[in-house]
Amino acid sequence: AFHQTPDVLKPRYVRVNTLKLDVESAILQLGKHAKVQKDGLVPDLLMLPPNTDLHDHPLIMNGSVFMQVRPLVVNFMVFLKENLGCSCSSLSLWIMMLFVCIRMHMYAFQGKASSMVAAALGPEPDWEVLDACSAPGNKTVHLAALMGGNGKIIACELNEQRLTRLRQTINLSGASNIEVLHGDFLKLNPRDLPYSKIRAILLDPSCSGSGTTANRLDHLLPSYDANTQDAERLNKLASFQKKALAHALSFPAVERVVYSTCSIHQIENEDVVASILPLATSLGFQLAAPFPKWNRRGLPVFSGSEYLLRTDPVEDKEGFFIALFIRKDPEIKEES
Ligand code: SAM
Repeated sequence: AFHQTPDVLKPRYVRVNTLKLDVESAILQLGKHAKVQKDGLVPDLLMLPPNTDLHDHPLIMNGSVFMQVRPLVVNFMVFLKENLGCSCSSLSLWIMMLFVCIRMHMYAFQGKASSMVAAALGPEPDWEVLDACSAPGNKTVHLAALMGGNGKIIACELNEQRLTRLRQTINLSGASNIEVLHGDFLKLNPRDLPYSKIRAILLDPSCSGSGTTANRLDHLLPSYDANTQDAERLNKLASFQKKALAHALSFPAVERVVYSTCSIHQIENEDVVASILPLATSLGFQLAAPFPKWNRRGLPVFSGSEYLLRTDPVEDKEGFFIALFIRKDPEIKEES
């Protein structure tokens, strides 16, 4: 079970959207409300004191700064949907708490882990980039900022309802280099013209979300056991994740692929990478270490797992996993 330090004692992280505001101006403006520090690891990420309330700050409202938050109300909806089988007393308790959250505008604040994913991909400004599973678009707009609004990003999303949220995030960010694609990433033909020049792919597929259950408060439930999450569900997710990763590596001009999850389960993380590694190697890819100075690496279950990056759901607020594949010699080279 998680023994989590309450959110009120942890720093708050915000990412400056450099498409709209530079980091120094953001520090000046936010500094009027609280002590602001640069994160030092993730570019454009700022750290504020625990409990800083910025949710209706003008810089947040106009998309100059993105706050890493999940409204608890949404988390409760997910929770109730997934736990309708739980006992009546705990269900009524949770409904009561839902109303408390709505009244108090409570948010679960995320750590910096989710901001590490796009930075780990490190796209060049003029590249064509594919965000394979993109909604609600937090990482898509981070990529756009890292590319200085240049190049081109294709944001692919299967779920029609989630497209609306994706478009809202893109509009708020002010990015004009993102093309939204409603479709199944697995069905994109890598050899088709629009995809044949893709140089980098961010693959953040559907996962169990077990690394953020601390935010979703599931761990407080008497019935919660992190080790016995539905095995069938995890197997299905892992099977999709493997297919998606193999597909990402098959794009002919791709040089960098990031595979990430917000799961703590080895089956969705190290096992996915280990099973795809022979294919990756045969296509000329190698694992590389994102954020080499970060101490928490992959579980030592195969040779090469030291290149993987994990964050801890308690210490770092979210249990994220990042694998970075790099290929120096793609099949199709850039035309000069
Ligand atoms: N990267 C996103 C962000 O940071 O905002 C979060 C992505 S979320 C973990 C995974 C997304 O993948 C969901 O929106 C889901 O609907 C979408 N998805 C699932 N299967 C897909 C598929 N086959 N093709 C495209 N998108 C898919």
